[in-house]
Amino acid sequence: MADIYADQDALSRKEQQESLYADRVKVYPKKIEGPVRRLKWAVVAVLLSIYYLAPWLRWDRGPAAPDQAFLIDMPNRRAYILWIEIWPQELYFLVGLLLLGALGMFFVTSLFGRIWCGYTCPQTVWTDLFMWVERLIEGDRNQRMRLDKASTSPTKVWKKTAKHSAWMVMALLTGGAWIMYFNDAQTVVPAIFTGEAGLQVYFFLGLFTATTYLLAGWAREQVCIYMCPWPRFQSAMFDEDTLIVTYREWRGEPRGKHKKGESWDNRGDCVDCRHCVAVCPTGIDIRDGVQLECIGCGLCMDACNKIMTNLDLPKGLIGYDSPGNQELRAAGKQPHTHFVRPRTVVYAVVFSLISALMLWGLLSRTTVEVNVLHDRNPVFVTLSDNSVRNGYTIRVLNKTREDKIYKLSFDGLGYATMSVVGQEDSASQNVARITSVADSVTTYRVFITEPPELADFSQKAFDFVLTDQATGEIARHETVLRGPGS
Ligand code: SF4
Ligand code: SF4
Repeated sequence: MADIYADQDALSRKEQQESLYADRVKVYPKKIEGPVRRLKWAVVAVLLSIYYLAPWLRWDRGPAAPDQAFLIDMPNRRAYILWIEIWPQELYFLVGLLLLGALGMFFVTSLFGRIWCGYTCPQTVWTDLFMWVERLIEGDRNQRMRLDKASTSPTKVWKKTAKHSAWMVMALLTGGAWIMYFNDAQTVVPAIFTGEAGLQVYFFLGLFTATTYLLAGWAREQVCIYMCPWPRFQSAMFDEDTLIVTYREWRGEPRGKHKKGESWDNRGDCVDCRHCVAVCPTGIDIRDGVQLECIGCGLCMDACNKIMTNLDLPKGLIGYDSPGNQELRAAGKQPHTHFVRPRTVVYAVVFSLISALMLWGLLSRTTVEVNVLHDRNPVFVTLSDNSVRNGYTIRVLNKTREDKIYKLSFDGLGYATMSVVGQEDSASQNVARITSVADSVTTYRVFITEPPELADFSQKAFDFVLTDQATGEIARHETVLRGPGS
């Protein structure tokens, strides 16, 4: 059936372009079949499966630790990703992951344009899902447009109620799955249904449900066009060789309607059928050139290829191409695609460096950490015998699941003595035996005293050394001893 609302649509868009204020022109994307659509459904299936199933994956970390493979444990300030356990002191791992994510997106965008937006962004994935349900209940583009324009009737009320109810259920499932990443999935899901979950669980469940319902059901393309910052700066990653969804103007123009049997001489291949516009989830016309609203979903490629096939013309009037190749093709020259370019090399190198750094950080992680805080007031105390004493607060981070005994000593001060408050008896030959409770931070007060004959100094650097008695693992922390000398 011809697209009866296409011209109306185009007119209201034109009117809005001339005004400073723009009402939203509701977009009614038409159903389309084709390789790109199938690929998009496959990506949606994989991503949704990961999202919904990952919290149910178990990972044995021993009896005292949660066994959920992916968990952000806010009350205990811990994040678990498979075998990796991230303490608050190690937030740099999460920062590293975010950096890798950003660099990965820069890299992919410079190669293939907005592939993230078009295929994997959660907004795209959930909008696709919500639109699929909408189409099942209300029908395809023209049926939905007619339904919206029709006056209230039992059919309209039933269809709208069914659609919004289905959306609410999907939003609830989405919000519910998000909660599972912050709570034990096997405990929190039954607790939600029996009313035993905490208030904050219900609050966040409501918040994520409402957000999903509004963003994927109502806001849709407006999130991409007005709310998301990514389209604003992604063009900085584009260059002449970036592959983007492109209308091959040199081949399509001059466009115009075409009747069966008419000659194709002196005209382009575009028959102005507007199928590419009708399927576009943001409602734009790819033939107007590169636009911020284009999320690079490629559905217009499927639409146009279908038309080209029906007309016995070669496919690819709309396809992935680079601006550089477009010019070459227009001039009848051989196109070429450069994947290795200065910017892609820089992104790849920085990505690899950060990955290597993180890997090194992971492999060289210790199960114990020691942090030292030098007393600020007073910085040092001169005792009655003229010896100089400095005070320190030492925090021992025992990352294991068992209580530990450590040997605390210092290195770099030949004649100084050490005493640990509460452990005075155990300190002998400047080595103190200190205990640390499993999976926690234990704090100690420690004094280092320099004898009177060496007391004329201003500052001496030394290390506190913590040794795990059972494994011999060592953690060091460099600090200073301050004195009255000039
Ligand atoms: S113009 Fe094509 S690639 Fe861009 S958003 Fe519309 S359908 Fe997707
Ligand atoms: S689908 Fe192809 S032929 Fe039809 S208007 Fe779009 S570019 Fe032209």
